[in-house]
Amino acid sequence: MARSEVVVDLGALRHNVALLAGLAPNSDTMAVVKADGYGHGAVEVARAALEAGATWLGSCSTQEALALRAAGIRAPILAWLDAPDEDLAAGIAADVDMSVSSLEDLRRVEQAAEEADARPRIHLKIDTGLSRNGCQPHDWPELVERASKHEVVAVWSHLACADEIGHPSIDLQAKRFDDAYDVAKAHGLDPKRHIANSAALLTRPDLHFDIVRPGIAIYGLNPVPTDHDLRPVMSFRSRVALTKRIPAGESVSYGMTWTAQEDTTLALVPAGYADGVPRALSGRMEVLLAGKRRPVVGRVCMDQIVVDCGNDEVAEGAEVVLFGDGRRGEPTATEWAELTGTIDYEIVCGMYRPRVRRIYT
Ligand SMILES: *Cc1c(COP(=O)(O)O)cnc(C)c1O
Repeated sequence: MARSEVVVDLGALRHNVALLAGLAPNSDTMAVVKADGYGHGAVEVARAALEAGATWLGSCSTQEALALRAAGIRAPILAWLDAPDEDLAAGIAADVDMSVSSLEDLRRVEQAAEEADARPRIHLKIDTGLSRNGCQPHDWPELVERASKHEVVAVWSHLACADEIGHPSIDLQAKRFDDAYDVAKAHGLDPKRHIANSAALLTRPDLHFDIVRPGIAIYGLNPVPTDHDLRPVMSFRSRVALTKRIPAGESVSYGMTWTAQEDTTLALVPAGYADGVPRALSGRMEVLLAGKRRPVVGRVCMDQIVVDCGNDEVAEGAEVVLFGDGRRGEPTATEWAELTGTIDYEIVCGMYRPRVRRIYT
């Protein structure tokens, strides 16, 4: 068996997608599967999400969208950010919807459409305040005008602070979004609208519009402090490779940062920072092993960690849960994120590693 495994619970994913789609009953649900499905596997996640009620998929790059097409997935897909020299023609030929933020973007899409001998489907992106991609309001009327000879499927945008409930920027962005939509309507377009990520889906029904774009929430991680029944989809587990008794006074791992105060049993687990255990968790993490949470002692190494089991008997080969949905008392990806000063998005995205086997249940 693999030294460590990421287990992806597609039943939990389907549950989350159905729950989220139910919260936005008048909108289509675009399951965001960029970055290989936030580390969960884009194709498997996409299929499960579509079974559970999603009708759109969101990718970052055209390459990611093409990988979904290559797997036989026919649902509409929006791709929103490529390098400037990306082969968009392949995307347009495969019926991938293109995001356009500028006249230069539009030229690239038009040229690619000519190459592909196909009509592009365009989502015009307005920058309402995030200042990443999207068109600035003062350039918007010209972009709309030039794009209006094509099929403009949607006008869309992205929120900066949707996870801070009541943040004043949300209403400001919503206002700018309305204005941008009005300009599109005045140019004779009748586009769909979409702006809501997970946090806005969960907290701002007024911003659901025609399509909602949940990412993190479909993976069961909640970016806002609401008590929706989202179930974490990913767990990370390994097995005890070796156990040993050490006498009081012996130390553990590089730098000998931890010393046994009493005789104790140690369990060696073959998962380290090259497998996705942040080294920053050294001295601060626990695992679920033989029915209990137990501390990992000493530094996290590249390939391994050491668990202090006290006087308990622990069998070699016993399952070790590094993180999971928390229902058995194990740590969660969110807890890892809090301990290392990041967000759980980064923890799960970081679990895509050739060394770690990914399995689906
Ligand atoms: C990543 C992303 C989303 C999903 O965001 P979550 O916070 O994970 O729900 C939606 N829209 C865009 C443009 C994104 O880049």
